[in-house]
Amino acid sequence: MTAIVVTLATAIVTAACTTGLTGAAAVDDRPRFADQEAGDRVVVATTFTILADMARRVGGDRVRVESVTTPGADVHQYEPSVDDLKRVEGADLVVSNGLGMDDWLLRFIDGTDARHVVTSEGVDPLPVRSGNYTGRPNPHAWMSPDEGTRYIRTIALALADLDPDGADEYLDRAETYVAELDDLASRARAAVAEVPEERRVLVTCEGAFSYLARDLGLEELYLWPVNSESQGLPRQVTALIDEVRDREIPAVFCESTVSDAAMQQVASETGSRVAGLLYVDSLSAPSGPVPTYLDLLDHDLEIITRELTS
Ligand SMILES: [Zn+2]
Repeated sequence: MTAIVVTLATAIVTAACTTGLTGAAAVDDRPRFADQEAGDRVVVATTFTILADMARRVGGDRVRVESVTTPGADVHQYEPSVDDLKRVEGADLVVSNGLGMDDWLLRFIDGTDARHVVTSEGVDPLPVRSGNYTGRPNPHAWMSPDEGTRYIRTIALALADLDPDGADEYLDRAETYVAELDDLASRARAAVAEVPEERRVLVTCEGAFSYLARDLGLEELYLWPVNSESQGLPRQVTALIDEVRDREIPAVFCESTVSDAAMQQVASETGSRVAGLLYVDSLSAPSGPVPTYLDLLDHDLEIITRELTS
């Protein structure tokens, strides 16, 4: 397949002017599509690492996938650099989350020929429950294995549509992948069933676990609702301290892309403990603990159920 040529160069230059990007960002030695020989492969650009992993699993050797944001980056209200956006240049398919999380990409793909698929299409959104974004969709639907299934199938259908010769491959790989995800979810439900009922409370820094908590029958408490908001404000900390202390919650958690300082304070003032680092908005580097989406869910669920049980 010949990559559809997109005219992002102009958009990028415009962005550099209008957003004050100077292009003098840190040296970025990631390979670019434009520097690589895509051959007959479908070129896919995603907004963050979790979607990139899904696209690689479904696409296999027929696709070349790149994430605009790198491992560890906070995808909320991300400010793409010129180099980041050059990664989208030449993409056949752009994959984003939607639900307001990665809208920063939209103005760069408007008017291009790249197809665009939103993985959360069809998700019944849970609302953000507090703060400036109250009532808006909580964007973290991929943290639900049930919604993750929807993401995977949506990517497979988009690839099949774009590359009909590979349609059977994409759909087969997606179903194998979904079966692995279902198996993981079943094991997680069994593990949660072992947690005493009064302890089924998940306390995190960002309110990013609403969909996962819904799937598994956990109650969700957090310091701040979404990373786009102020993080670790005194009123957020004191409110959570009261709750953790009153309910004698033994373990609290924080996520890899944010500071855990405020949660350490909650733990030290309540006798609870920060029981582990969870991953939600980004995979780790390939050599880290969660190089894939399934690793991410497995890692988080293993730590959460183990720490709430012990
Ligand atoms: Zn988040």
